[in-house]
Amino acid sequence: MIIDAHNHADWHKTDLDGFMKNMDDNDIDVTWILSWECPRHEYENYNGALASYNKKGPVPFEAVLAYKRAYPHRFVLGYCPDPRDPDAIQNLKAATYIHKVQVCGELKVRMMYDDFDAIRLFRAAGELGLPVIMHFDYEFPRSNISGWPNFWYGGGIDTLERVLKKCPETIFLGHAPGFWAHISNDDLYDKVAYPKGPVIEGGMIQKLLDKYDNLYCDMSAGSGLNALTRDPEHALRFLNQYQDRILYARDYFDSKHREFLESLDLSQQVKNKLYFENALKLVPLK
Ligand SMILES: [Zn+2]
Repeated sequence: MIIDAHNHADWHKTDLDGFMKNMDDNDIDVTWILSWECPRHEYENYNGALASYNKKGPVPFEAVLAYKRAYPHRFVLGYCPDPRDPDAIQNLKAATYIHKVQVCGELKVRMMYDDFDAIRLFRAAGELGLPVIMHFDYEFPRSNISGWPNFWYGGGIDTLERVLKKCPETIFLGHAPGFWAHISNDDLYDKVAYPKGPVIEGGMIQKLLDKYDNLYCDMSAGSGLNALTRDPEHALRFLNQYQDRILYARDYFDSKHREFLESLDLSQQVKNKLYFENALKLVPLK
């Protein structure tokens, strides 16, 4: 069995039919289908990878709900309202009670995630039994966006630590460049999004995993793939050591993460945890 613990509806020019075909082609049994709600000025459309005509953000809850309704047994429903919306907690509760939301994600907004409103939302998610998926990006100089240098999200790794400490009853999944760069104990995390080269031991991810049992890792996207492929020997040690806290996830439509995992000398027992058992532990299938 394989669970993709991070993907989106109507994403990278793929509609529902294309999505189902892609799941079948890539041996994905179940996908955590996640919303992404934020104001229009807080995201780029990645050369048309997503639509900007949606009012509530690039991937509004309605879009993921449509996928869930069409194939209820192939999707785990995710929804994270913008924490700055005064209705955020009520909407999360309503969506959980009415539509059986099981994941609070993806959170990808231009705010520090230890903001009072975000912390309240995370605690509500914990009470509802929903793990929270958080996207982190540092501020980088990038020339192709006017005004802001780039789209940063969430704050730094110190912000994540404050969140973990303030919400011990809530499970969090770290994701994206601002999280995965910290697999290595170097100073590249706020200079390049996808640092290359051998991992230096003592990274903040490992420190936080050791210190906080409410932290998990979402390996999706180029950031998770890069953190593993930049140093395959380290990746093998990391995956074995934290085999109970890492989830297979794509955020895209290829199987590059799986190809890399299969290239490593991992036991079937560890692979089962990564591919589906850890996901089932956080979110049992209904
Ligand atoms: Zn993301």
